[in-house]
Amino acid sequence: MQRYFGRIVEKQVILDESDQYHLVKVMRAKVGEQVEVVCEGKLFLAAVASVKPLKITTIAQIKENNELKNDVVLIASLLKGDKLDLVLQKATELGVEEIVLLQSERSIAKIRNLDKDFKLERFNRIVKEAAEQSKRTRLPLLYRIIKMDQLPEIDADVKLMAYEGEQGATSSFLSAIKSVKSGQRIAVLIGPEGGFSVDEVNEAKEYGYQTVSLGKRILRAETASFYALSVLAAHLERK
Ligand code: SAM
Repeated sequence: MQRYFGRIVEKQVILDESDQYHLVKVMRAKVGEQVEVVCEGKLFLAAVASVKPLKITTIAQIKENNELKNDVVLIASLLKGDKLDLVLQKATELGVEEIVLLQSERSIAKIRNLDKDFKLERFNRIVKEAAEQSKRTRLPLLYRIIKMDQLPEIDADVKLMAYEGEQGATSSFLSAIKSVKSGQRIAVLIGPEGGFSVDEVNEAKEYGYQTVSLGKRILRAETASFYALSVLAAHLERK
């Protein structure tokens, strides 16, 4: 069943234009067709009451929680081309609560201020589609593009920096994850194609970040995000 993120006002479902188009033109919805709608973290079963004009009314709230037990924020360095699109999509599927974009020293991709709103809008569309596809009951936040010296603005109890210079055993990564307590927010910081500079590592450490290894091989930045978030999600959902 198709899931949308929308608003609900007195049992009437309000979808954004692209979702309305998708439901009517792509899904060719008929009167009576049922859809799932997420509004403010709550999931509802709804039905199409009319197609022209489109009217959708809620039937019942559904108890479901597909979210991770702990909030996870991915701090992802900007990447070239569609690699960042993939990171946004997979991070959303893997349950992050927020994605923060980092303009790091060696980020090849740059987002200038005049592009920021346009790019963030496109990035949020990717996140929304991934959240609908993966049956999330919460849309990850994505509104910040920061520089290293703004790291302290990111609220987190456990701060992990995947650093290629730590190549080797993953014990520090795994023990950091295993010591996560209920209610703690976990930040995972991933570098760009060119990696982190020593200055960036020292700066992150000053902000309380612990450098961890993701194994003996050098992973592409996008792979490193998938790897770190997969291990983290698997642990948080082990029971
Ligand atoms: N240019 C760097 C080099 O050749 O050493 C590699 C950077 S890697 C492509 C991009 C990012 O992925 C790194 O900054 C780090 O955050 C993460 N990463 C990749 N492999 C890793 C590993 N084995 N351990 C920890 N982090 C890793």
